[in-house]
Amino acid sequence: MISRAALLYLSQKRELKDFFSRFPGFKQVTRRFIAGENIDDAITAILELNRAGVTATFDHLGESTISRAEADADVREYLRALDRIEATGVNSNVSVKLTQLGLDIDEDYCLQNTRRIVEAAKRHNNFVRIDMEDSSKTDATLRIFKRLYDDYGNVGIVLQAYLYRTGKDVDHTLAMGARIRLCKGAYKEPEDVAFPEKSEVDANFVKLMKQLLKSGIYHGIATHDEKMIVATKEFAASEGVSRDAFEFQMLYGVRRDLQLKLARDGYRMRIYVPYGEHWYPYFMRRLAERPANVWFVLKNLMKG
Ligand SMILES: Cc1cc2nc3c(=O)[nH]c(=O)nc-3n(C[C@H](O)[C@H](O)[C@H](O)COP(=O)(O)OP(=O)(O)OC[C@H]3O[C@@H](n4cnc5c(N)ncnc54)[C@H](O)[C@@H]3O)c2cc1C
Repeated sequence: MISRAALLYLSQKRELKDFFSRFPGFKQVTRRFIAGENIDDAITAILELNRAGVTATFDHLGESTISRAEADADVREYLRALDRIEATGVNSNVSVKLTQLGLDIDEDYCLQNTRRIVEAAKRHNNFVRIDMEDSSKTDATLRIFKRLYDDYGNVGIVLQAYLYRTGKDVDHTLAMGARIRLCKGAYKEPEDVAFPEKSEVDANFVKLMKQLLKSGIYHGIATHDEKMIVATKEFAASEGVSRDAFEFQMLYGVRRDLQLKLARDGYRMRIYVPYGEHWYPYFMRRLAERPANVWFVLKNLMKG
């Protein structure tokens, strides 16, 4: 069976996107995890989620641009998404990746770009979540987040339980009073920065989840892992933290059964809804999380 490391390696080989795109069934396969190629596809997906009592966050797919034209186009796309959220009345905020907004070009340029989106979200009474990328970006991402949080307030950050440093980052972020999305972490990290064992990542996730729930701030617990979810539900119940004081978050197309069950049981549930043409690295990271999905992909690629 192909390993997680191999799939993460392949996720960086963008030329493979064209290879996959030649198969007749590729569109159907990617639709499992990606809402479609444009804003309207995402709105349609979110409307359906909203009808099931679930909220969403928009993600325009793309990362690591070194082109100002591309970064500017992404800013415009997010401004359009915020307009469309307001116009259609869907219950959704937006999630952004800073390398998509020019972090690899220049930090200050990226700050200005992200500022435009946060400022527009503020006008729309909406919220921006800054995704966390690989560990070489953590410091710059936190610097930009802090500036925008101090200036506007309607912005939150993602912190990853697999990094050794995250306990300290959680402390600082809670001291600011800001909202955190806690996840395990999706990138291939060296052993000197991240826990190598899944059991250690899980233990850190539970420890940090407890700290978040006790903080009195509204956070997102982002996982599909039933053990993490049970631990969160049990801790919330034992501490008297009500079901509307935090939210679970999951990715579009992953554990749909569990998403709906949690919503039916009265928990807040938000789905990360990716759309756009640059689906390849995102799609491959999802396969890496569950290499068994490779069979699903291979089986369906040949179907027209
Ligand atoms: C809303 C949201 C936002 C995220 N944002 C970021 C971010 O900004 N930065 C970042 O590094 N990571 C992000 N992630 C990804 C995260 O870090 C993990 O890589 C991902 O969620 C898998 O970890 P897990 O907690 O689901 O647990 P795992 O231990 O990986 O999985 C537990 C179980 O969940 C199910 N499962 C998990 N993934 C899949 C899948 N792809 N297909 C089918 N079943 C699956 C399987 O049953 C698996 O056994 C985000 C995740 C979510 C849900």
